[in-house]
Amino acid sequence: MRAKDTMTTDSAIAAETRAFEADVSKLLHMMVHSVYSDRDVFLRELISNAADACEKLRYEAIADPSLLGEDPQLQITITLDKDAGTLILADNGIGMTAADMGETLGTIARSGTKAFMDRLSADKNGEGQQLIGQFGVGFYSAFMVAGKVDVISRRAGESGAASWSSDGLGTYTLAPVDPAQAPARGTKVILHLLDDAKSYAERYNVERIVKAQSGHVPVPIFIEEAGS
Ligand code: ADP
Ligand code: MG
Repeated sequence: MRAKDTMTTDSAIAAETRAFEADVSKLLHMMVHSVYSDRDVFLRELISNAADACEKLRYEAIADPSLLGEDPQLQITITLDKDAGTLILADNGIGMTAADMGETLGTIARSGTKAFMDRLSADKNGEGQQLIGQFGVGFYSAFMVAGKVDVISRRAGESGAASWSSDGLGTYTLAPVDPAQAPARGTKVILHLLDDAKSYAERYNVERIVKAQSGHVPVPIFIEEAGS
């Protein structure tokens, strides 16, 4: 059940924890307990969201070029930290307000995910795991490789920033973020990798997956290692 009140970056003074929609919980349960072998697809999903966000900004900037500000080069940066066990995917695209995150990262908005859920409930032969790769389950696929996901975002043209955080176990927390700690524009998705998914902090592995899955993405993708 979602809270009835809506939240804007202005009114988001305190952190607020909400329960996921029932369908999201079902999907997340599947991600968290995934024994799906091709977990690499999470990176394709997050890169495609980042690229979509860049395309949305490019489009909005046609009417309002000031949205691009002093940072007109749209790009995606993946930062790997082996010691911390994190993979951070950042884009300087359109970004999200707290209200945007509450609407899109707590519900099943996308039609592809709905189709997946329908197939899943009709699934009698335990083929659900294979369906993950076939449908591509979007943002929530991050929980196949991460025990905790933090999203920090600032909508283009907004001064405030907000965070979304979840361990994928039923609730998520929205909170305002000190703008100094947030990207100037766009979104940072921080994956705290599971013990059996630490290879996603290895550069050679991430490079291989990006080459194999995201070669067609119309935004440059940079891979960096923390501390280097
Ligand atoms: P889809 O991409 O098919 O809409 P996802 O589950 O991948 O489904 O993402 C859900 C929604 O979350 C997106 O439609 C978008 O509104 C929002 N979103 C996710 N990642 C980002 C991002 N990096 N920047 C802006 N919005 C995002
Ligand atoms: Mg997507």
